[in-house]
Amino acid sequence: MTNLHRLSIRELSEGLQQGKFSSRELTQHYLKRIEKIDAQVKSYVTVTPELALSQADAADAAIKAGNATALAGIPLAHKDIFCTQGVRTSAGSKMLDNFISPYDATVVTKAKAAGLVTLGKVNMDEFAMGSTSESSYYGATKNPWNLNYVPGGSSGGSAAVVAADLAPFATGTDTGGSIRQPASFCGLTGLKPTYGRVSRFGIIAFASSLDQAGPMARSAEDCAYLMNVIAGHDAKDSTSVDKEVDDYVANLNATSVKGLRIGIPKQYFNVAGLAADVKARVEESLKKLEDMGAILVEVDLNMVEAYVPTYYLIAPAEASSNLSRYDGVRYGYRCENPVDLMDLYKRSRSEGFGEEVKRRILIGTYALSAGYYDAYYVKAQKVRRLIQQDFLKAFENVDVIAAPSAPTTAYKIGANLSPTEMYLGDVYTLAVNLAGLPAINAPVGLDDHNLPVGLQLIGNYWSESQLLSIVHQYQQNTDFHTQRAAIAEENA
Ligand code: GLN
Repeated sequence: MTNLHRLSIRELSEGLQQGKFSSRELTQHYLKRIEKIDAQVKSYVTVTPELALSQADAADAAIKAGNATALAGIPLAHKDIFCTQGVRTSAGSKMLDNFISPYDATVVTKAKAAGLVTLGKVNMDEFAMGSTSESSYYGATKNPWNLNYVPGGSSGGSAAVVAADLAPFATGTDTGGSIRQPASFCGLTGLKPTYGRVSRFGIIAFASSLDQAGPMARSAEDCAYLMNVIAGHDAKDSTSVDKEVDDYVANLNATSVKGLRIGIPKQYFNVAGLAADVKARVEESLKKLEDMGAILVEVDLNMVEAYVPTYYLIAPAEASSNLSRYDGVRYGYRCENPVDLMDLYKRSRSEGFGEEVKRRILIGTYALSAGYYDAYYVKAQKVRRLIQQDFLKAFENVDVIAAPSAPTTAYKIGANLSPTEMYLGDVYTLAVNLAGLPAINAPVGLDDHNLPVGLQLIGNYWSESQLLSIVHQYQQNTDFHTQRAAIAEENA
């Protein structure tokens, strides 16, 4: 059984239930691949073979006893931002390098309850701040399509493990694009759900009003399986919404592409910096959807220029508050030989945080300071509302909105973009989080460097089923999602 890593989640589920292979065999297969290939990709921060094999044995026993859930025994990788009991949870930071979580995030609890097997924790930008995964304390993860390029970020490890066939699917988080952009850079399907759909309990907080967890996988179908596990109300997260959860798998064909109204915001296609290849692939994908019966409708989204400045005030403001808990006293990194309490705080934070995190803490603290609060933070909150209203107005006339997920394909490792250049690369993803909307990335072909391009579909609130269904049908009619990254091909 050499090709287990090529099977879809549905095929894995069927194979396990029918006894074609055991979860122990499947898990060992993945652990071997990780050992063989991950030195090149550098996607795992922590591999958990003992935990994985004990969960695999439990799943095998449940399958034998006939009381296993549909996904029992299938391996999964978690972004290292989800707290995992007894396992290091680093958030890609030196600050938490020594942090063994005493409890599980709700997403992790739900994954365990579904019988999923934890392969380990995967790399990310420090505290999820970044778009390349290079800001991780553990070093850069490589893009499986070309090891000289970044996998995107902040969920770069989650994207890389799936693209390199080092996990069948993975969890990610998206505060301003961190599921969609790495999915785009690595040729995957990734869903950022409506704010409040998936519990944030036990996810290391970056910007609490924007953070949302979601699935990253090869196809919409695979994402739907993971959504069925992780979505739902959680009393432990006060912003989690108590609303009925769809059966995302059962609904994969429920939305009709025929007659579907897809909004094309013309402002999005005039953004300076939108690469010609990206524009071409996205337009081809829209043509394909049109051939499948969709109706393309021009819509106005007039606030594009406000997206980056608004997000880069609100997100750092919330981050500066959330990250004040890392003080060297309670948990995490503590400097050596502090002379007094002030010295302990100062040096623990100066030594424990990396450059990008410090930049955001400074910006956020400034924006929240008494003298500038109204001018920056309050103003940004008002603009945030206008951005949301802009979307709601567009949704009066269309079912979904189409856009690129990113203006370019993956960057070269070490390209050393300035912070502002890097922030501008988030132009297509940030507004979705500011408005709390769901959005999905689907792979739609390659650029002339053989790097993947992604189409983003943005839906109205709670339209996750619809987004997955549209992409599923697109994937029934195209094969971009089945193309494999170079390193996956070499190690087929
Ligand atoms: N790239 C964006 C940032 O750096 C988004 C990150 C995210 O979604 N976690 O903030």
